[in-house]
Amino acid sequence: MTGPALAQSPADAAPSGADWAAAVAAVRSVAADGRVLLICHVNPDGDALGSMLGCALGLRRMGLRQLQATFPGPPGVAEPFSGLPGLDLLVPAADAWTDPDLVLCFDAASVSRIGDLADRLDRAGEVVVLDHHASNTRFGRIHLVDPFAAATSVVVEGLLDRLDVPLDREIAECLYVALTTDTGSFRFAMTTPAVHEMAARLLATGLRPEEISRRVFDTRPFGAVRLYGDVLGRAELEPEAAAGLGLVWTYATLDDLARHGQPAYVLEALIDSVRCTAEADVSCVLKQVAESEWAVSMRSKGPVDVSRVAVALGGGGHRLAAGFTGRGSANDVVAAIRTELDRVLAEPE
Ligand code: 5GP
Ligand code: MN
Repeated sequence: MTGPALAQSPADAAPSGADWAAAVAAVRSVAADGRVLLICHVNPDGDALGSMLGCALGLRRMGLRQLQATFPGPPGVAEPFSGLPGLDLLVPAADAWTDPDLVLCFDAASVSRIGDLADRLDRAGEVVVLDHHASNTRFGRIHLVDPFAAATSVVVEGLLDRLDVPLDREIAECLYVALTTDTGSFRFAMTTPAVHEMAARLLATGLRPEEISRRVFDTRPFGAVRLYGDVLGRAELEPEAAAGLGLVWTYATLDDLARHGQPAYVLEALIDSVRCTAEADVSCVLKQVAESEWAVSMRSKGPVDVSRVAVALGGGGHRLAAGFTGRGSANDVVAAIRTELDRVLAEPE
């Protein structure tokens, strides 16, 4: 890195004018043949990929020619995202430049979320972190972190606007996928008038929301339908848990996936089929990733700050949507969650 970190804006505030000016200057100072590496978090969701690729396409429109987009872990994106514009810019993490002129990092609340790519931050000319997690640890140099933004793509639109990059249909499609993913298709609490105004600007480019939604949210292989049947059939409701607010949970094993011939991404939407349970505030899905390792998704309808539970168990996220990596048996992981729920609910926020 080139110097001391900028004065930090408070963790609970939107980026300051100085933050925006620094980010704009960092992008503008890259020569047309300068190398810009865009990174998003492991196992990228619609906001991570859409924000990264939308920004990359905007930089390409500015005339930047050397662009790479990447994320840690296996290369390739899940089927729902296979139609996103800008995927031609994607490279496997191992092929990402080791000393780019500029790194832009998307939707990652902490450096652990970019895995092996963390070393690129140390050797980059400049590092801009774009995010909307209140828990962001400010691991870059310039930080566009807006905890009030519904999605990281809101921050990206703000940056492209300040760079005088007009929205075209391809950029808009990326940002729309990101915005609809993180707002639950405009259902979640962060769905402000400003979110709908942004959606209006994106729609005005001529994108087809019904096609995008069908591709991203409403298409699943038949094997996944059967898999959901198995996994939802073993869901447990614990009305007494979480100090009587209720917990509903289930788990999906690697064997479940293999039995139905399904890739892991089909489980991403599983939490949505569990969290609708009326009798429980907290919902939880354990997705097995190795013998004794589980990717855990947690949701609350409001009363419980599940990010406090997730952080206590080594993860992070938002108040109403958070996650962590759990170890041991499924019962071990759920026991740890019950314990942390009780602790969090006993302590003032
Ligand atoms: P999901 O349940 O959809 O995978 O994740 C919900 C939110 O929880 C994400 O937006 C992300 O902020 C956070 N999250 C999920 N898994 C992890 C994890 O393993 N570590 C951290 N730090 N955050 C996570
Ligand atoms: Mn996000």
